[in-house]
Amino acid sequence: MKKKSPTNLIVFGEEVLNLLHRTRTVSTYKYAVLLGIIDLCMEHNLVHDGDKESITTRQLAEKVMALYWPQTLPYKKQTDSPPLKQNSGNQAKILSLIIDFKKHLGDGSVTLSKAILADKDEYEKTVREIEWTLIHMPLPKLQRVDHASNELLYSIGWDDNVKRGQVSEYQRAKPSSDFDNLIRLQHGVADNLASLSSLLRPLIHNLWMTQVAHLNKKKLEDSQLEEYLFGASRIPLTPIKNRLRDIHKDECFYCGGKLPNSYEVDHFIPWARYPDNGIGNLVVADRKCNGNKSDFLASEDHLEKWRDHIDETSDDRIQLARDKKWEGDMGRTTGVATTIYSALTGDASLWQGIDRFASAKPERIRSILGGFR
Ligand SMILES: [Zn+2]
Repeated sequence: MKKKSPTNLIVFGEEVLNLLHRTRTVSTYKYAVLLGIIDLCMEHNLVHDGDKESITTRQLAEKVMALYWPQTLPYKKQTDSPPLKQNSGNQAKILSLIIDFKKHLGDGSVTLSKAILADKDEYEKTVREIEWTLIHMPLPKLQRVDHASNELLYSIGWDDNVKRGQVSEYQRAKPSSDFDNLIRLQHGVADNLASLSSLLRPLIHNLWMTQVAHLNKKKLEDSQLEEYLFGASRIPLTPIKNRLRDIHKDECFYCGGKLPNSYEVDHFIPWARYPDNGIGNLVVADRKCNGNKSDFLASEDHLEKWRDHIDETSDDRIQLARDKKWEGDMGRTTGVATTIYSALTGDASLWQGIDRFASAKPERIRSILGGFR
């Protein structure tokens, strides 16, 4: 008997925890796959077939690649210490593939969006290998608890015996290919994962960190390790900082005050909720506002201002992203904002200004979100 996904959110959450704790893995793939699926659900980046929602293996491969990308940097900045191991035995295949791609480009610190533009063929080769790795390794194994098949999150049309040739044919779009690349989410899973994302993300990060510490048998400082694996600071925002300031007409996005010489770039949707350096998610703020807002969600007033602001400045932002080879997908950012804000109830507390919070007003939020183009 295959288990199906429960409809109750709390029960579902407990089953996901069970899955995380009880399945065995020698690598960190399980965490990357789960986070990748959660991110795609938050973005509503799903394939719809009637009321069924799916993710393609290709979409997941791109997500997993983006998650591991900064984790292939040296563990200690400005040294040639190797990246941390994410597999028992040799380095995990997916990380090795990314490291090889970076070597091929001759730039270990290149950002993913630059790398894609720099060598499309090599990128395509890498992402296909990652896709294949996910297909034959974590995807058939991820939901197996005590050797029992469990379809809590998804069902797929292949098992461990899937052949490379079969997947290659599909990747080369050969008409003879019979590989079905859909990861079919169980009914309600996409909504449930999006609703629980703010709880599941830090939990998965913690489990991921524990495994990396274990695999590297080193004394690793927790905060340093977290920053290394998941931190925002691994991707410097300096290349776009000045022009963002111009786009914001020299004003702090939150208080409207004139920006001092030392100002900061803030993630409107906090990095801790959904890591997004997309050009639409970045605003400038003075140090006081940015520090005080921290990982809180901004209030409706700010949300409305942000919606209008990115709408008015979208041409400049897209141009900036193009010039600096930056992530430019604004639709993804507004999609995630819609997911996060529309899930809020009146109990949620939103950041309004320095040390000021207010309860969320779901009705007003709905009307603001309705205005996203
Ligand atoms: Zn301010």
